[in-house]
Amino acid sequence: MNKKIDEAQAFLDEFIPLVWNEKDVDIVIAPPFTALYTVSNLLKITNVSLAAQNLHQAEKGAFTGEISPAMLTDVGCTHVILGHSERRTLFGETDETINNKIQSAKNFGLEVIFCIGESLSERESGMTFDVLSRQMTEGLKGVAPDGIIIAYEPVWAIGTGRTATTAQAQEAHEFIRRTLAGLYGSVADEIRIIYGGSVTAENIDSLMACADVDGALVGGAGLKAASFARIVKYNK
Ligand code: PGA
Repeated sequence: MNKKIDEAQAFLDEFIPLVWNEKDVDIVIAPPFTALYTVSNLLKITNVSLAAQNLHQAEKGAFTGEISPAMLTDVGCTHVILGHSERRTLFGETDETINNKIQSAKNFGLEVIFCIGESLSERESGMTFDVLSRQMTEGLKGVAPDGIIIAYEPVWAIGTGRTATTAQAQEAHEFIRRTLAGLYGSVADEIRIIYGGSVTAENIDSLMACADVDGALVGGAGLKAASFARIVKYNK
């Protein structure tokens, strides 16, 4: 819940010229619903794609206050973030709700950035792999692997400044890759697994050096054009 329309516009004025030439990285921006229309227009003829941060699974109808996948594609979204830990913990989304949302998003041709991750107490009690496994198995039930991006976001690392070490990130990503192989077979190697949780311009290079880290989901450091551009241009 960051950036009003004029702030989103100002961000893009600065950000787009900084990443204009980055052809080897897929860049996606996920502004709040209220800025989607304006941002969508500003992203036309750029190399940046548009995501929403949530959706409701129904196409339309009596769901006051909700936004449908059809509305998202209508406004120019190609991606949607689903299952973010804040949706799970603050808004009561269950694995089943998220699974319904993923299926609906895919039916409308949206690529899904599907967030999973353990809380601090789950990690400390040795439950990390059990949690990741459950979230994936339930969340991806009946879902084909195309158009799915997994975002591993340890809840204790989101917005806390406490990033997972590269060893922790790689260990979790490798587990996720193995779980995906169990669900989908060899296509698991092609599924993007991105890391989120206190990613910064300073730690992106070492995270991206991990064998199974294929990208990043950036919160706080993505709010400033210069730091987000540096993350896009990791290793440069
Ligand atoms: P952060 O947020 O990068 O500020 O930790 C990540 C997220 O919102 O998922």
